[in-house]
Amino acid sequence: MTNAAAELKDMIALWNKFTDKKDFALNPDKNHVGLIFKGLKMNEKKYGMKLCPCRLRDGTKEGDLKLICPCNFKAQEIWSKEGRCWCGLFMRKK
Ligand code: SF4
Repeated sequence: MTNAAAELKDMIALWNKFTDKKDFALNPDKNHVGLIFKGLKMNEKKYGMKLCPCRLRDGTKEGDLKLICPCNFKAQEIWSKEGRCWCGLFMRKK
C-alpha cells in the first residue's frame, strides 16, 4: 500500500469514527471521497490546514478557520435542503 493510500485509509477510519452515532455518514462513493481527500491534502500542503476543497478562501485567518474540515455544515442551508455538506463528503443517513 502506498503512503497516500494508507493515509486515505486512516482518514476514512477517522471520518467513520466522527460520523458514528450521528445522523450523517461518509459518502459511500469511494471515488468521490478520494477526490475530496486529494483536495484536502493539496490545501494542507498549500495553507498548512485541511481546508475545504469546495469553497473559496477569503484570505483571512478567521475565514480559513471556518473552512477546516469537517466544518459546521449541519448549520448550513445545504444540509437542510439537500442533506449533505457542500462537497458531498458527508451525507444524511437514509
Ligand atoms: S463542506 Fe464537507 S468537505 Fe468541505 S469542509 Fe465541510 S465537511 Fe469538509
